[in-house]
Amino acid sequence: MSLLQVQMVNKSFAGLRALSDVNLNVEEGTVHAIIGPNGAGKSTLLNCFVGRLAPDTGSVLFDGKSLVGLAPHEINQAGVARVFQTPEVFSDLTLEENVTIPTLARRDGPFALNAWRRLGSRRDVREKAMHILEDVGLADERGRTAGTLSRGDKRRLELAMCLVQEPKLLLLDEPTAGMSRADTEKTIELLKRIGERRITKVIIEHDMQVVFSLAHRISVLAQGTVIAEGDPASIKADARVQEAYLGG
Ligand code: ADP
Ligand code: MG
Repeated sequence: MSLLQVQMVNKSFAGLRALSDVNLNVEEGTVHAIIGPNGAGKSTLLNCFVGRLAPDTGSVLFDGKSLVGLAPHEINQAGVARVFQTPEVFSDLTLEENVTIPTLARRDGPFALNAWRRLGSRRDVREKAMHILEDVGLADERGRTAGTLSRGDKRRLELAMCLVQEPKLLLLDEPTAGMSRADTEKTIELLKRIGERRITKVIIEHDMQVVFSLAHRISVLAQGTVIAEGDPASIKADARVQEAYLGG
């Protein structure tokens, strides 16, 4: 069974069809990329996975259970974490605090509390925080305030804040957007390493180098429809994909 099953999802905004009969299966332990031109509906689709939007029709099943109608914190509690398009960290807190207090007062109040409860005693949490900061290569900077980090490092920190929750599914919306080449390379290495096959990943990405070096499967969205799906080699060779990109 696929970890995430998306069936016939439709979503319109005031008459504009943002998603049209979208089907997508994400297999457990894989990296699944969603690519497509600007405005294709990629972020809208991701928002339907995390409860920020509800599909008009269609179903989204995670681990066999429907996510439609659940609140963001309930979806998070079920094991879905998300890295946003713009990094969201606590600028005035240290890196250690950012990871240790995952998300107190974060955007979805109850979600913070749930995460905190799941994390157990504070000492465990601190040890775990250190491990995770090591994993993302920020352990030496743990006492620094997050606001002083480069954009790339902020993204790494945000990733650490997701990983501390031990998600089953990690959703990444353009994790390398605005990064230097060097930071992009570092992020690719990091994403290859973290969670390996324990954490299933869905990644929205413009940078084809990132997509082709990470993804096991790729779905191509254009104007709200999946126009192609397959492994990287078949997607690279697909005429419709090239047309969608060249034709914008
Ligand atoms: P992508 O992430 O692929 O660039 P989006 O999912 O952000 O695309 O947008 C898909 C389409 O839906 C676009 O035409 C966009 O303008 C529209 N759209 C997205 N979110 C909203 C919203 N909250 N209200 C109205 N239109 C929206
Ligand atoms: Mg987007």
